[in-house]
Amino acid sequence: MGKNVVIVGGGFAGLAASIFLARGGRTVTLFEKRRYLGGRAITHLRHGFRFNLGPHAFYRGGAGSAVLRELGIPVRGGVPNGAGIALFGKERHKFPGNLWSLLTTGLLRANEKIELAKLFLRVRRMKDPSAFAAISERKWLDDSVSNERVRQTMEALLRLATYCNEPERMSAAAALGQLRRALRGVIYVDEGWQKIVDALHSSAVAAGVNFVTSSRIVALDIDGAVRGIEFGELEPDVEDTMELRMPRPSREHPGTRLAADTVLLAVDPATARDLIGEVVWPEMRTVIASCLDVALSRQPQPKKNFALGIDQPLYYSVHSRFAQLTPKGGALIHVARYGGGEENELEALLDEMQPGWRDLTVHRRFLPSMVVSNALIPPAPAARPSPATPIRGLYLAGDWVGDVGLLSDAALASARTAARAILAAS
Ligand SMILES: Cc1cc2nc3c(=O)[nH]c(=O)nc-3n(C[C@H](O)[C@H](O)[C@H](O)COP(=O)(O)OP(=O)(O)OC[C@H]3O[C@@H](n4cnc5c(N)ncnc54)[C@H](O)[C@@H]3O)c2cc1C
Repeated sequence: MGKNVVIVGGGFAGLAASIFLARGGRTVTLFEKRRYLGGRAITHLRHGFRFNLGPHAFYRGGAGSAVLRELGIPVRGGVPNGAGIALFGKERHKFPGNLWSLLTTGLLRANEKIELAKLFLRVRRMKDPSAFAAISERKWLDDSVSNERVRQTMEALLRLATYCNEPERMSAAAALGQLRRALRGVIYVDEGWQKIVDALHSSAVAAGVNFVTSSRIVALDIDGAVRGIEFGELEPDVEDTMELRMPRPSREHPGTRLAADTVLLAVDPATARDLIGEVVWPEMRTVIASCLDVALSRQPQPKKNFALGIDQPLYYSVHSRFAQLTPKGGALIHVARYGGGEENELEALLDEMQPGWRDLTVHRRFLPSMVVSNALIPPAPAARPSPATPIRGLYLAGDWVGDVGLLSDAALASARTAARAILAAS
């Protein structure tokens, strides 16, 4: 194998892998179809407000945190304290996000509080959630919780940690593992996730990575082993949120060919399938959310900073309460519906939390169907492919690859594993 590596995709996974590889002595060229790097971790600056693509929280105890530490990338921001409102039908209660609010919330009766507290303790003390890999989150809930309201509360907390509203499809091990990480706290990142993207980019440039943006890879040449890539025309200058409307790469319009014997695909699974052709991994289910992102010149209700639906898959959080995301006095609010939904439902929640918000809006956008994760993790057997493929010279990374973590943790952990495998192979 040569010393040249081509990486396709400039999200977290591609960027992190590029640094490991360049520092390991490889000559790395990264192709990104958009004109900018970052993938789903980008942040848009609008009138001085920083908009992540929907609510983004970095898990302090996750594998991604360890990878960024290893790369020397700092993650600075604020840690939300778990205080907020539990939405249950028309009832409004203290959200049981910490021990004090669990004891004092009107959401649960005394016996229900004891059951939930015991459940929390059990999850915290769990030595190895992978013991529950073969069963669904729903089955674990049914087996572990007797009271209906406690079950709904626990389900809401698992939804908050995983973004997934399909407990019957989700592996209990994956969901519980993610809840344990969430209990160790999350960070709302100052200046948005773009800050991490920019730091990754700077480190990659310093390590000697070559970047080719606005360049979509349309085909891979594979004959038993990887032989090269083909890249297409310059991409039009489009908003990332138009992703779903953009055409997929096509084999009918081959582009310019470049010889390469080591290629790391850090793209989504549908693109990887198109590029590779025959693949062995099973169909993966995406995790979707609809998001209403709103910038306000002022927050009408400064104390209402977080709310979570207990019997409905709704999320509301003022991210600027804990991270630097706005000009002085402003508020950046993310409202979301797990699994997707209508904009007016999210507006109605904002009407309740921040009455008068419409008159104070500086900028807003609705993202109807964001892919939060490319791979919902079902009960065993594992569905995610491993970073090293059976095809010589071909590697994978992304939030749908490997057996470590969910979301950006999976993207970063698989990037490190893929890079190590490439370095070990040559
Ligand atoms: C609404 C929302 C909320 C989220 N919240 C959280 C959270 O709270 N915590 C968390 O950890 N994670 C969260 N995530 C997930 C996180 O954003 C992703 O896990 C992470 O950004 C994925 O990185 P990636 O590199 O695997 O994929 P991507 O970011 O999707 O990067 C893939 C890149 O490949 C490029 N590409 C695709 N095809 C080609 C081609 N043919 N040629 C060249 N380039 C190509 C794309 O343009 C893109 O830049 C959230 C995501 C969303 C959408």
